[in-house]
Amino acid sequence: RAKADGRGTYRFFETGMDARAQARRLLEMDLRAALLRDEFEAYYQPIRDVASGRVVAFEALLRWNHPQRGLIAPINFIPVAEETGLIVQLGEFVLRSACSDAATWPDDVDVAVNLSPVQFKSPNLIASVTDALAASGLAARRLELEITESVLLQNSEATLTTLHELRAMGVRISLDDFGTGYSSLSYLRSFPFDKIKIDRSFVSELATREDSMAIIRAVTGLGRSLGIVTTAEGVENDAQLELLRREGCTQAQGYLFSKPRPASDVALMLNRPRLLASA
Ligand code: C2E
Ligand code: MG
Ligand code: MG
Ligand code: MG
Repeated sequence: RAKADGRGTYRFFETGMDARAQARRLLEMDLRAALLRDEFEAYYQPIRDVASGRVVAFEALLRWNHPQRGLIAPINFIPVAEETGLIVQLGEFVLRSACSDAATWPDDVDVAVNLSPVQFKSPNLIASVTDALAASGLAARRLELEITESVLLQNSEATLTTLHELRAMGVRISLDDFGTGYSSLSYLRSFPFDKIKIDRSFVSELATREDSMAIIRAVTGLGRSLGIVTTAEGVENDAQLELLRREGCTQAQGYLFSKPRPASDVALMLNRPRLLASA
């Protein structure tokens, strides 16, 4: 009887699921299969030193080569990967790919990898970073890990311990999407970040909004006084780059230089000074 009830409940749940929940369940199954079928790929976007124009790093950005749906951007699957915990495996894949790709690049070009808050909390994190470095032979100082403020919101003691452990390994830590969260300034005091990435939303409004300009000026100034590198995200035109240069922003990343592209295009992105057609 209990069994029958259970089944009945299950069936009711299935037919009662709204379209969104069904779509998510399908996506979850698809993600699991995609991991087995090796459909994920790290793309890379160059980051340039503003003063010299040199490519100093690439950010690894995850893509899903879906057999039917084509290339899928992370916004379309990372939230579900986080809810289901699959992000841990996905994140390990990106770490391994990024480290082994970067090991083939010139020694003065770093690689940045995004860490999900879920991945950050997982007990495997330190081991997977250690393994990725060991397997690739990449020097730890060439790996930057990007975290967002949401990582710092939760469980601060454990979070700080993990950050310090990573730092002790020689890995650098960046604060991503700066300015989009809550109390950004206190985070800068809680941990000595190596880099602040100024969110794209401030850069895109640079030329048209006085307040965005003022915020960028404040953040680059803050970076200078604290000895933290500042990177502007989403730089799309020369006017923005010029304003950033004038404010002393250290690094710039954006479509002006290149969209994210496959690892096989890294040599091209290193050699060409500027714009590349979109991938
Ligand atoms: P993010 O870490 O802030 O990465 C920057 C995003 O801005 C990328 O989007 C990049 O393609 C986009 N972008 C760069 N320059 C420009 C520009 O000039 N204009 C515009 N409009 N966009 C630009 P993408 O690749 O779609 O990734 C979105 C977000 O997904 C990332 O934001 C990051 O939070 C997350 N993500 C990507 N790859 C991974 C990953 O391997 N692991 C985790 N946990 N998250 C990832
Ligand atoms: Mg990032
Ligand atoms: Mg960002
Ligand atoms: Mg962002």
